[in-house]
Amino acid sequence: MTSKLETVLLNIHNVAEAAQHAAKEITLVAVSKTKSPDAITPILDQGQRVFGENKVQEAAEKWPALREKYNDIELHLIGPLQSNKVRQAIHLFDVIETVDRAKLARAIARISAEENKSVPCYIQINVGRENQKAGIDPDEADDFITLCRDELKLPVQGVMCIPPAEEDPKPYFILLKQIAARNGLKKLSMGMSNDYQDAILCGATSVRVGTAIFGARSQAGVIYHGHS
Ligand SMILES: *Cc1c(COP(=O)(O)O)cnc(C)c1O
Repeated sequence: MTSKLETVLLNIHNVAEAAQHAAKEITLVAVSKTKSPDAITPILDQGQRVFGENKVQEAAEKWPALREKYNDIELHLIGPLQSNKVRQAIHLFDVIETVDRAKLARAIARISAEENKSVPCYIQINVGRENQKAGIDPDEADDFITLCRDELKLPVQGVMCIPPAEEDPKPYFILLKQIAARNGLKKLSMGMSNDYQDAILCGATSVRVGTAIFGARSQAGVIYHGHS
């Protein structure tokens, strides 16, 4: 039987081919938020190595033990980062996708220097200009990228977005691609379970897929808590 992971990988392959894009250049970030190590282990056993978590604390409870059992894990932070959790995040994550304000960028730069560890960063763009959503306003993106990269010397690799729900995401994906292109950034993190194929057609270099790999998450508020 084909696993959910295999189905997603096959879809990525097919869409990449249609977009004349090499599938191996598209990274699948398996979003394991709320999922227990018992649910994550079968996905690791199928060979998946790149994962996304949206909470620092939850990642700290789950991933150090999994990293002891599996080599080459690449963990992405895809949720909001508070300045007081930066030190922990720098040690837990291999990529921070959610750099979205100057105070946070300055904290990452300062603490990376103190800890002598630099973590590749993406700038999160609030492509739909939604009040309730994190991310830098598209009109401020160029200045913010310049601040992060040129002044603070953060290793900025790309941009990420979460388009408005209930709308055609394609214009937002295209907006993100334009912001990346005019700033010389190569990585585009966009597309989730419902729209990763569209995102690839619009140029995504990574897609963040949870539900389509792990099945539905339990209702809001019920998340994984460690055994301690
Ligand atoms: C939860 C989450 C995803 C995955 O969403 P699915 O619809 O389950 O694929 C992707 N990106 C971010 C930022 C998320 O918080």
